[in-house]
Amino acid sequence: MDMRPPPPAGDAAQAPVDLGLRWSPDGFAALGPGFFTELRPTPLPAPYWVAGSAQAAALLGMDAVLLERDDVLQALAGNRPVAGTRPLASVYSGHQFGVWAGQLGDGRAILLGETESGQELQLKGSGRTPYSRMGDGRAVLRSSIREFLCSEAMAGLGIPTTRALSVAGSDLPVARETMETGAVVARVAPSFIRFGHFEHFAARGDQASLRLLADHVIARHYPDCREAGNPHAALLQAVAQRTAALLAQWQAVGFCHGVMNTDNMSILGLTIDYGPFQFLDGFDPGHICNHSDTQGRYAFARQPSVAYWNLFCLGRALLPLIGDEDQARAALQVYETAFPQALEAALGAKLGLAGPPREDDRALFDAALHLLAGERTDYTIFWRRLSQAVAGGADAAALAPVRDLFADRTAFDAWAERYRARLAGQDLARAGAAMLAVNPRFVLRNHLAEQAIRRAQQKDFSEIRRLLALLSTPYDEHPGNDADADFPPDWASSIEISCSS
Ligand code: AMP
Ligand code: MG
Repeated sequence: MDMRPPPPAGDAAQAPVDLGLRWSPDGFAALGPGFFTELRPTPLPAPYWVAGSAQAAALLGMDAVLLERDDVLQALAGNRPVAGTRPLASVYSGHQFGVWAGQLGDGRAILLGETESGQELQLKGSGRTPYSRMGDGRAVLRSSIREFLCSEAMAGLGIPTTRALSVAGSDLPVARETMETGAVVARVAPSFIRFGHFEHFAARGDQASLRLLADHVIARHYPDCREAGNPHAALLQAVAQRTAALLAQWQAVGFCHGVMNTDNMSILGLTIDYGPFQFLDGFDPGHICNHSDTQGRYAFARQPSVAYWNLFCLGRALLPLIGDEDQARAALQVYETAFPQALEAALGAKLGLAGPPREDDRALFDAALHLLAGERTDYTIFWRRLSQAVAGGADAAALAPVRDLFADRTAFDAWAERYRARLAGQDLARAGAAMLAVNPRFVLRNHLAEQAIRRAQQKDFSEIRRLLALLSTPYDEHPGNDADADFPPDWASSIEISCSS
């Protein structure tokens, strides 16, 4: 029950803002009070627009011109209620860095509601909640811009992700390693439910709530599971499959999440909670993008096995509902075949291989990655140049720009010979065009985000808009934007990305 009195009549500054959306009564809030606390966002002083995504607005069913209106800014900064919504913060738990962390929850995120078209709208950085623990409930401008741009960049790449509708900035001082300023990201997703939501009720032995939650997720997001003999085992298997598909896409594009705790794992297999993430520049399987991750638990090459470990935590939580260990194990084991299959399909596409997979394809992939790892070759540039080389006929002249990336030309030539043999008989113009559609020209490299952040800290938001346009269609050539597709500058390696956001 929301016991707060309604705002005084006639107080325009507090009047609800109509976003032109229809809100569903059957969203997360329908689960009942055991799952959340109702509360309003804490106002963000004197907000200003930093960024808006017309694409995310369209997904939500909202007119993008609203992202220019002051009343909408006030609403998405958390200063005015959104008409028809009952904001809440949800409770969850989780394993952080492999250790049970107990109760967590939306410590700085507030869910406004779910639209009838099935999209939830959430404000991140909107103040303290009962789950804030020692935190201030805020998010800083730097990390909010990173989340905004990366959400939209992932969507542009075709990788499942939560979306970002807007960033509202403020001069509110927020203390991190240094003093920064606060911001609120409005995020959009069909659901923000995490593995940790299930772990929470399982750890408390609250089977009734666990069942409510699982059945809510099945009904709204995995309706096919209802037909299965054991719907909860089917749910676990479906999540394992989606997670496998997601991880294959992360590995294929060179994305390192940085904080794959179970509370940062989406039950829908979406990329969620952008923090110290990084797209690889030079290819390094051992790359750790989170400076707080001293053990390298979340190093790039470990991500697929960490996801599996996280799925085990989810499986353990769902076990009381599944009721049979063998069925739970079988559901999880789907990951062991689904992930390598999805990764091989993705790498095959990156290499432009047509027709059924061949037995020695795997060796060809491994040899390519070994070559890249040996010289820390720029990952994105390698694949893009290779795509162009194939489009250009894959002869020695066409391959020269790829060859130039390697100091050990002999090793490259040996690999290229095998690759050309594998491509024999294929229409190379077609293969090259297909490769250009899966090997992006642009990814949100750390230094690109950093340039946009530095400008935004001076209240110039044009670089965010420019990058958003580029990253929304990252497979297009975008002539004239060569610098954004080029090698990172020397200073890029000195950007320190910690957990603090
Ligand atoms: P993360 O790993 O950043 O997704 O956050 C882990 C937990 O800490 C979640 O429960 C967050 O809601 C919470 N949290 C992170 N930063 C803050 C903050 N500044 N204020 C309150 N809670 C936070
Ligand atoms: Mg999180």
